[in-house]
Amino acid sequence: MKPYKLAAKEDKKHNTIISISTDTGKVMIGQGYHVLIAGPCAVESADDFLQLALFLKEEGAHILRGGLFKPRTSPYSFRGLGMEGLDIMLEARRITGLPIISEIMDYRDIELMYDAIDILQVGSRNMQNYSLLDELGKLKKPVLLKRGFSATIEEWLLAAEYILDGGNNEVILCERGIRTFETYTRNTVDIGGVALVKHLSHLPVLVDPSHGTGRWELVTPVAKAAIAAGADGVMVEVHQEPDKALSDGRQSLNKDNFKLLSRSLRELALLENRIV
Ligand code: PEP
Ligand code: MN
Repeated sequence: MKPYKLAAKEDKKHNTIISISTDTGKVMIGQGYHVLIAGPCAVESADDFLQLALFLKEEGAHILRGGLFKPRTSPYSFRGLGMEGLDIMLEARRITGLPIISEIMDYRDIELMYDAIDILQVGSRNMQNYSLLDELGKLKKPVLLKRGFSATIEEWLLAAEYILDGGNNEVILCERGIRTFETYTRNTVDIGGVALVKHLSHLPVLVDPSHGTGRWELVTPVAKAAIAAGADGVMVEVHQEPDKALSDGRQSLNKDNFKLLSRSLRELALLENRIV
C-alpha cells in the first residue's frame, strides 16, 4: 500500500469529481471535465477586479481567482488587500455567477473566509504548514493544494493526505512549478509529474503555468502541454494592464492573450473528450 493511502488511486474505483454550486449553475472539477481558473495575482481595486471578472466570464473562465493575502518574498512588496478585498470578490461572484478561489495563509482566517470563498487555496509556501492543513481537513470546503516548490510528488500527496485524513475529501492538486537549476524560467513546470500524479491519485490535478514559468509568453504553450498531459484544467493570472500590476505582472496575460488561451484550451480539451 502507498503511504498516501487516501490520496492513492488504488483504494478508489472512481476519480474524485468536485462539484461547486453557484447561483447560476455548477462547476465540475475532475476527470472528464475541463476547468479554467483565471484572475489577477492580487485583488487591487474594486473597479478593476469587477471589470476584469465580467470579461473573464464572457471569455470562458469557469472560476475567478484573486489573491487577498499575498505571500511575498519581501515584506516590503504589496501584500494584498487582506479582508478588505473580500467584499470585492463577493461582488464579483454576485455579478458573474462564478465561484471564487483565494489563498488562505493562516488558519485564523478560516472563519472569515469560509462562507465567502468557494475554494480555499493553499500556496506553495504553505504546502507543509501542517497545522493549516489539519484545520482545512475539518472543513466541508474544496481546497486547492499547490505543490511546494521544493516538494517531491510523494511529499505533495502526503500533504493532501493531511486534509483527506481530517475528513475533507474535496482536495484539488495544483502543480505550479518546482525549483531547479534553471534561471531563465521562474520555476520548472513538472509536466511528467502531472501525468504521474494523474496515474497515482484519484484527485483532480490542475496546473498553474503562470507561477510555473514566470513569463506570460510561455503561459499558453505550457497550459496546452498541461491539458495534453492529462491535467483537469489550468489556473492562470490575467491583468487588465500587466505592466502596472502590483504583483506578478511579468507572468500575467493581458485580455487579448487570455482570449486566445481560453479558445485554444477549449479546442484542445474537446479533442481530449473533456466536457468544456
Ligand atoms: C498564487 O497563486 O497566488 C500564488 C502565490 O502561487 P504559489 O503559491 O504557487 O506561489
Ligand atoms: Mn501571483
